[in-house]
Amino acid sequence: MRQDRTDGASLKKGNVTRIYKLIYRQGTLSKPEIAYQLGISLPTVMQNVKILQENGLIEENGVLDSTGGRKAVALSCVKNARTALGMDITQNHVSLVLVNLYGEILFRTREKIEFEDTVDYAKKLGAALTRFVTELKAEPKTILGLGVSVPGILSNDRQILVDSHILQIKNIRCANLVKFCSYPSLFCNDANAAGTAELWNREALGSCVYLSLSDSVGGAIILENKLFQGENQRGGEFGHITIERGGRRCYCGKKGCLDAYCSASVLSGLTNGNLADFFRLLRQGDPKITAAWDDYLDYLATAVNNLRMSFDCSVILGGYVGAQMEDYIADLRARAAGLNPFEDDGNYIKVCGYRTEAAAVGAALMHVSPFIDQIC
Ligand SMILES: [Zn+2]
Repeated sequence: MRQDRTDGASLKKGNVTRIYKLIYRQGTLSKPEIAYQLGISLPTVMQNVKILQENGLIEENGVLDSTGGRKAVALSCVKNARTALGMDITQNHVSLVLVNLYGEILFRTREKIEFEDTVDYAKKLGAALTRFVTELKAEPKTILGLGVSVPGILSNDRQILVDSHILQIKNIRCANLVKFCSYPSLFCNDANAAGTAELWNREALGSCVYLSLSDSVGGAIILENKLFQGENQRGGEFGHITIERGGRRCYCGKKGCLDAYCSASVLSGLTNGNLADFFRLLRQGDPKITAAWDDYLDYLATAVNNLRMSFDCSVILGGYVGAQMEDYIADLRARAAGLNPFEDDGNYIKVCGYRTEAAAVGAALMHVSPFIDQIC
């Protein structure tokens, strides 16, 4: 008897989650459509929808056209029923976002806080977060937690920041960073977080490779909607793919790494560290800048083609340069297609959807994902 009750309860719980996820993915659905798509009875759907409505997770949202009979009530998810905080730590700044269950940014801020491995720095992070939450008047009960993205390699259990060249630290405990933040915290690599954010609203892709072109080059490999991190959490460290044997010196000490050819600083280094100035001069047809961009695009096309040959999935360009790529994507696609023995176009190359704060959003989504997977 007891066994039967347990099975019944878990089945019921499973149906609530299945129904929620179906509505989440499809936007709006009627009860008969839910019953049809999941192969469960209409009374079961009604019972579970009631639970979701009582918990404020779904709502009635107009009517749907039907082929005959009464119009069906449309159900959709309450996007802001829960929220999550994301924090992106960089060398000189901290970005904070509050996202809803669809990964949409509700609020964001960016503060200049220079990284240092001290208790004082952790206090500044805590104070910035408290200010942010206080100002946006978020309902604390709805906040699922804090996701923190860091520019470096984490241990397999994501508790230790093993190595960050940018922050010039090795082996620090992640928990020390959030000592003064009063939310359950999870950590991830910044490029992995950004890649996760990019794929979140493009579920149809399923798999993608994300190439982050900021002041350093990084990336993420997402296979069938799961982040692939490899044996040492270094999957997607595309910055250190060797692109030119014996080539330019990389910050890592080796020669010929992609980072030395395709980081944003390769471009901004020509305009006193100002990337916007680089693109302004490029649009004006400055000969030196145009030549540098031509060189940059050739190396980028080579790298992107190598990724396509390795993973056979979409390549999303992000980071500071990725955010500027819309006007140049046709050129890049043509160059990459010229290297590809199987395809005549480079339409698999895509520009990032988040122009800024992708890493902070991806970090926040680490709390959203398990919530959706286990809704009640
Ligand atoms: Zn390198």
